[in-house]
Amino acid sequence: MAIIESVHLQKLIDILCKKGYRVIGPTLGEGAIVYGELNSSANMPVGWTDEQDGGSYRLKKRNDNALFGYSVSPHSWKKFLFPPSLRLWQAKRNGTSFQVVTESEAIPKFAFIGVRSCDIHAISIQDKVLMNGQYTDPHYKSRRKDTFIVAVNCGKAGGTCFCVSMNTGPKATFGFDLAMTEIIENERHYFLAEAGTELGADILDEIPHTKASEKERCAADDIVKNTSEQMGRNMDTTNIKELFYRNYEHPRWEDVAKRCLACANCTMVCPTCFCTSIEDVTDLTGEHAERWRKLDSCFTTDFSYIHGGSIRPSIKSRYRQWITHKLATWIDQFGTSGCVGCGRCITWCPVAIDITEEVEALRKSEPVSER
Ligand code: SF4
Ligand code: SF4
Repeated sequence: MAIIESVHLQKLIDILCKKGYRVIGPTLGEGAIVYGELNSSANMPVGWTDEQDGGSYRLKKRNDNALFGYSVSPHSWKKFLFPPSLRLWQAKRNGTSFQVVTESEAIPKFAFIGVRSCDIHAISIQDKVLMNGQYTDPHYKSRRKDTFIVAVNCGKAGGTCFCVSMNTGPKATFGFDLAMTEIIENERHYFLAEAGTELGADILDEIPHTKASEKERCAADDIVKNTSEQMGRNMDTTNIKELFYRNYEHPRWEDVAKRCLACANCTMVCPTCFCTSIEDVTDLTGEHAERWRKLDSCFTTDFSYIHGGSIRPSIKSRYRQWITHKLATWIDQFGTSGCVGCGRCITWCPVAIDITEEVEALRKSEPVSER
């Protein structure tokens, strides 16, 4: 374990840039803390935090200069690894036929700074679905293969976080090259850093650091412990798959359908949702056509449209599909839950529908003996 004084964080960014990485990290933008290109630590949200609750997100000043003093961004890293809009190929008219031109986009080598433990779990879920299963998405694989991950253990839980219930945080335990805990004590601002890979250890060696003392290690442990005790939400996951399988026809689905706008926000912000559609477009001359892959959502009627109509025409059936997939059928399909407890779907739902409340409502409606 090493100690990096906060003034040396810039050195980490410089080393990664010099090694050819496109460095992405937290910045202020769009009235929120979002992920964007980072070449200076001065562009990070210095001294800012977020306040999150159902349907509500606010930026707020902290009374210190923390760089990672917020919980989770509305953005997740899928924005970079699984772009919401991607041109797959173009075709040009060539006499009476078309010539297909495949995309030859140069894929950057990404370095992500500030990845929370819940998001590491989300990346590992998308790895399983998009790269390590029966079928591989070559676009995801080419973006993911050289990613350098700097995890940051959470020093503050958001009002909608429930990673402790999902066993996905707040401390990063795998899937990182470097992991850091930010510590601010009176006038001192530093990071406890740990390498998770050989490459991470090599990069750590290049940054000015000292060996961590017992006291500094305990300070970092206390921060993570406090965070785990501050979760804004919690979810009882006991036999959760069976809970959903028993309740396909529960009246709660009608209740939630009256509130849900089918806006799809929850699926857009979710770091594990991966559904897409294919769109073919042509220009007015008919000389040029393109095929695009776009992020889609099980909340749209078009998503389940086949000949003759949509399989899930009602909002009730679409909400039930989403939450049942996240928390139950995902387990059968991929061996893990599809939810990592990041809370984004609760914060960014315009009518504050809360996945933890919906689970609790189903549970409470059953006799105690069946729960
Ligand atoms: S379902 Fe909601 S809480 Fe769970 S991972 Fe997705 S956005 Fe986060
Ligand atoms: S649950 Fe909320 S965010 Fe999701 S589709 Fe319904 S209204 Fe939109």
